[in-house]
Order: sequence, then structure tokens, then C-alpha cells
Amino acid sequence: MDNKKLAELLFAHITKSGEDFIIKYPKRNLPEGAKVTRFAPSPTGFLHIGGLFAAFVSERAARKTDGVFFLRIEDTDKKREVENGVTGIVQGLQNFGIRIDEGMLTETESLGDYGPYTQSQRKEIYQTFCKELVEKGYAYPCFCTAEELDEIRKKQEENKLNPGYYGEFAKCRDLTYEEIEEKVKAGMPYVLRLKSPGSPDARIKFCDEIKGEIEMPENIQDIVLLKTDGIPTYHFAHAIDDHIMGTTDVIRGDEWISSAPIHLQLFDILGFEKPRFAHISPIMKEDEETGGKRKLSKRKDPEAAVTYYHEVGYPKEAVLEYLLTIANSNYEEWRMANPDADSDDFDFKLSNMSKAGALFDLMKLNDISKNYISTLTKEDVYERTLDWAEAFCPEFANLLKEKKDYAVRIFGIERGNEKPRKDIAKWQDTVSYTKYFFEVPTQYEWPENLSNADMTEILNTYKDVYSKDETAEEWFPKVRDMAESLGYAKAPKMYKKDPDSFKGHVGDVASVIRVAVTGRKNTPDLYEIINTLGYDEFLARIDKAIELLK
Ligand code: GLU
Repeated sequence: MDNKKLAELLFAHITKSGEDFIIKYPKRNLPEGAKVTRFAPSPTGFLHIGGLFAAFVSERAARKTDGVFFLRIEDTDKKREVENGVTGIVQGLQNFGIRIDEGMLTETESLGDYGPYTQSQRKEIYQTFCKELVEKGYAYPCFCTAEELDEIRKKQEENKLNPGYYGEFAKCRDLTYEEIEEKVKAGMPYVLRLKSPGSPDARIKFCDEIKGEIEMPENIQDIVLLKTDGIPTYHFAHAIDDHIMGTTDVIRGDEWISSAPIHLQLFDILGFEKPRFAHISPIMKEDEETGGKRKLSKRKDPEAAVTYYHEVGYPKEAVLEYLLTIANSNYEEWRMANPDADSDDFDFKLSNMSKAGALFDLMKLNDISKNYISTLTKEDVYERTLDWAEAFCPEFANLLKEKKDYAVRIFGIERGNEKPRKDIAKWQDTVSYTKYFFEVPTQYEWPENLSNADMTEILNTYKDVYSKDETAEEWFPKVRDMAESLGYAKAPKMYKKDPDSFKGHVGDVASVIRVAVTGRKNTPDLYEIINTLGYDEFLARIDKAIELLK
């Protein structure tokens, strides 16, 4: 077979050589050891938390080494594409502070010298390299129809053989030039297949940066390089793009491990230096139904979508901090030893990532987030709540703007002190958190151990006991004295020792006041709440509660 002639027959329109592209996209001028990494999603508009995780880890690896992180859009599967699918992904990354050095920025704009960064615009590049593979005898056209491929599959099933297009089943491998020419001229559709040089007994080894040494059978499949429409498969596009774009570390989901032998073979026959590979295990979740673990699912788990975190208002700092804790198990310990350090100072390592799949835990994220929010100033909490509310809860945003000073004061309660309160996990929580400040309660969680008459007595007495100008230090002793005068124990311990001698204890008394003012059993510091509400509002609420207890 005259391979050159065949290449010309199939790719007459290709006039460039692979070398032209190698020259056009020279090696980047980066410091020694710099990593070039990428995130390469399909433009489905949907960013899975696992995708954000992969992007985050890839960006970290680049940042740590003064390298480059780029975004490539893999739109070779038109079925998965949605309108504005790139924007959704770019937004998702941006919302979580992931910075793209190169690649797609919007549906049409990009940054960087290694583009186009959208695969559908790289046809000429792929086809140029395909032409060269045909010339070298590493690729051939295959005219098999779906029915023929089906027959092959059935035969393999009957004989318990591995599925696929290989060896004796690779029917089109041995077509003559004349046969091919006739079919091409007759306009028969064809795919371009790899003529795999692999042998069934050979094995390959490679060192995955996360999973360690991996050994697998060599690839023997004549996989499809170009589909009938001239668009490459993932495998081929990956080899070409990651080489031409200078990726040094391919960090991707571990569903691609099984195809790694194909990819390594492609790098070899193309004469490309192989990148390092790091395959990330999927993020897992405890399955409530089975008690086992399963992948976080787009269908079943709202928290699988990155938009979820944005919509409910988790601060990006908290989400990233959480991702670091699941990325490197030694991160938490480091954080404990360095509470105020920038997380960039942490020595993040791919090799410290979980081989089995990190377990996702919303409770843990909540804790991290509460902790983070507790360190913000009241002004920051106000501004960030407002930003969130403007996007997702406009009525609340209006209220915050109308009553700015009041809102800032509310957010200042038990904040800025040594042990700030940790009860806001996400901005959405602030709606309920601040509700009783803006509205008189409509529901009351009254303590169950006191009668209405007892509670009314407490409230009536407290109206007289409380004075406008008392200090935080004076406040509680006054409540305690009042409790004692009404027949309650001064301390819970006292009550426990001798319950028959008291109506209850000081905690119950404070609870009645708290519920009357806020409707709730659990709130931040009551003294601060009363002060923030103001004396008149306090009195009005006590009076309303007394009315309701009648
Ligand atoms: N488009 C591929 C995916 O979304 C990219 C895998 C890779 O990072 O190479 O799974």
C-alpha cells in the first residue's frame, strides 16, 4: 500500500504538516518545574462539584509551580452541548475564585497563544496529524456500518472474546488502495481508525501521580481517531491538544484510567513526549438508603452542582477551604497549626490525594463555613449577605439596604470578640437568622415546664426590672435576682439538687424573656438582642407576649 497516496486521497485539503503546528506553538518559556495544567469540560453548562474539584486541584498545581492553568472546551460531542454552556462553566469557576491564565473566557472570547481553545475549531490541526499517521501507516479508513459492527460484537460475545475492533475483527485494516479509492469516490462514509501497533501479550506501565504505579495490557484496539464528520474522538484530541498546548500534567477523572493505554500509545506513535498523568477519584457520598458509599450524583444530589453553593451562599473561601481538606488529608492538621495563614502557603501535593475517593460531607463544609464567617467583620457580613441577596433574594436585599445601620448592628452581635458566634454557614441562613429583628414573632417556642401564669408573671416583673441603661455586666445578675425573688433557683445546679423547692431555675426565666422577645429558644446573646431592638420595641414585644399568654 502506498500510504502517501492514501493520505493524499483522504486528506487532499490538508496542506500543512504537523511540524508547522509544532513550530507555531513552541514550548512555553516557564521556570524549571513549572506545571501546565488544564480543565477540559464539555460545554454542557453544568459544573459538577467534582469538576470544580478537578479544576481547583489543577489550578493549585499550576500556581504552586508558577505554571499555567488553562480552560479548553471539549465540544466534540455535539449531543452534550447546550446553549451558553461555556458561560455556565466559566461563571462557575469564577464564582469560586479559580483563575484561568489561558483559554476560553466567554462563548467566543479567549486568552492565550495556544488556541483555539475550543476543539471544534481545531479540525485542521487534528486532520493534519491524522494525515501524517496515514502516511506512516498508523491509520486507515474504516467503512464498516453500524450493522457490521453489531455483527462483530455478537460474534465476540458468542465466543467470549473481548469486544472491539482489533486483530481478525478489524475488517477494513487490509483493504487495498483501490478498494478504498472506490468507496471514497462513491461517497461512502468512513471513520479513520488507528492501526494499533500493540500486541495482545504486551503490558504497559506508567506512574500515576495520585494512584502510583499502574500496569495494564497494551492497547490493541484500532480505536476511532476521526469520526465520519472529521471530528476527533476524545482520545485523539486529548493527545494532540495536550501536546500542542504544552500540558505537562494531565489531571482528570479516573474514569479515563482504562483508556490510558490508548493515550500512551498515541503519544508514542505521534512522537510526542508523554505528559504526567494524575487521575482523581470521584467524590463520594454516604448513601442513606444502603449505608454504603456512592458517587455524588447530578440526578440525586443537589449539592453535586456547583451552582448550588453559589445559590445558597456558601462563601467561596469556605468551599475552597473544604475542597483542600478533602484534597489533601494533611491539610486540616496544617490549618490547625496555621489558623491565620493563607491557604496558598500549604504545600499541596497531588501525591497526597486520596486514591479511593474523598467522602463529601456537607456538615463538615458547614462547620468550615461557620468558622470562616465568624472571622468576618459585621460590615463584611453585611456586604456579602447583600451581594447574595441581590442575586437570589431581592426582597431581603431591599430590606438590608433600607435598614443598613440596623442590619450591620444585627450582624455585629457576638462578633469581633474573642469567641465569635458560629451560626451562619451560608448567606441564605441570614434570612432566618435576622428575621425576628425585622418582624415581630408569630410563633413562640415557650418552655414546656412553666404555666402561662408563671410566664406572665416573669414577663410582667421583668418589664419593671429591665432598665434602658444597664450594662452587659449588670444584666444577668439582675435576671438572677429577679428569678430568685419569684421562686426560681439562682442556678440550674441548685434546682437539680432540690427540684421540689423551686418553680424552675434562672435558665427557665431567661428563656421566657428570650422567647417573648424573639419567639425562639436559641438565639445569640439576649442582652445584645434587646439593645439592638431598642427599648420601645422590647416593651412592645413583652406586652404582645403577655397578651398572647392570656
Ligand atoms: N472532556 C473530558 C471530560 O469532561 C475531559 C477529560 C480530561 O480532562 O482530559 O471528561
